[in-house]
Amino acid sequence: MKKDYYEILGISREATQEEIKRAYRRLALKYHPDRNQGDKEAEEKFKEIVEAYSVLSDPEKRKIYDLYGHEGLKGQVNFQSSWEDLFSEFDTIFSSFFDFGTSPSERRGRERGNDIWVEVSISLKEAALGVEKEINVERLSVCSNCGGSGAEPGAGYRRCPVCGGSGRIVEGHFFIRFSRPCPRCGGKGLIPEKICSVCRGTGFVKKREKLRIKIPAGIEDGSRLVLRGEGDAGKNNGLRGDLYVVVRVREHPFFKRRGANLYMDLKIDYLTAILGGKRKIEDLYGEKFDLEIPGGTQPGTMLLVKNRGIRDMSERRRGDLFVKIVVEIPRKLSRRERELLEELRSLKEDSQERIYDN
Ligand SMILES: [Zn+2]
Ligand SMILES: [Zn+2]
Repeated sequence: MKKDYYEILGISREATQEEIKRAYRRLALKYHPDRNQGDKEAEEKFKEIVEAYSVLSDPEKRKIYDLYGHEGLKGQVNFQSSWEDLFSEFDTIFSSFFDFGTSPSERRGRERGNDIWVEVSISLKEAALGVEKEINVERLSVCSNCGGSGAEPGAGYRRCPVCGGSGRIVEGHFFIRFSRPCPRCGGKGLIPEKICSVCRGTGFVKKREKLRIKIPAGIEDGSRLVLRGEGDAGKNNGLRGDLYVVVRVREHPFFKRRGANLYMDLKIDYLTAILGGKRKIEDLYGEKFDLEIPGGTQPGTMLLVKNRGIRDMSERRRGDLFVKIVVEIPRKLSRRERELLEELRSLKEDSQERIYDN
């Protein structure tokens, strides 16, 4: 004896389509094979529910059933062949119950766009001061001709031959199955009659665009800036990917950077090295200051100048400047210079002889 379809769904004979649907969802969720694996009873129950729903949700079949009962439907409904349809429909209902986070849009193939990586090259001074740069980005944008549909405007759509219009492909065994978006139509269930002539059906066009980016002061070579939502456009109104900007800092002719500290070489003449003196120096920020060189400074000496390095990103601390002394020995001398130096040497030789005389 076959059970009454209304009884199976637990509804009255006067139930509206909305009530039928609601009852079906509730029961199908409860007895879905994925949630009752290996439970034969649940499987039978689920089949009954699907069968009852497939009849009662169709006004014509429902009328026949109301008038003639199960007998009337013999030969009218081929359940074996309608399983597939019911499943794909059920799938949609089923996932809409559980995918609260992902929303129904995901099943229509919404995808986040790709991230893009670009490099930008700046000078050390720009890194120290911070700078605004214009960068060229080649990224996918939604095709303006078709609005991303991939279809030539006005040409219309037809049902996708791969998924039969459901937008999903069901895979696996009869009761252990899963579905994924149809690769042919991207989950939309429809394919264009004629593909868009601008994007050739992809829905995207590659565009070279200029973007202005702010590079913060104190940034170091190899740092990465992230611009959210500035990457490739996503499929089916998906979010744009992100844009990653890798900052390359070019070498400076004088200053080398290590963390917040700066290093530089300073050439001085041998007289300044011996006698001492002052030198005007411009730091990386363009501020001038006097550097005191003590008398008797040896070649290679490192002089420390506090707080003349780089301000770090927080701008709370400024590094130091290390000045390495390079003593220049003249290659050519004037006659007068030579005379004086010779005189100096004889003085020196005298004092040395005195030492050896002892
Ligand atoms: Zn399809
Ligand atoms: Zn297009």
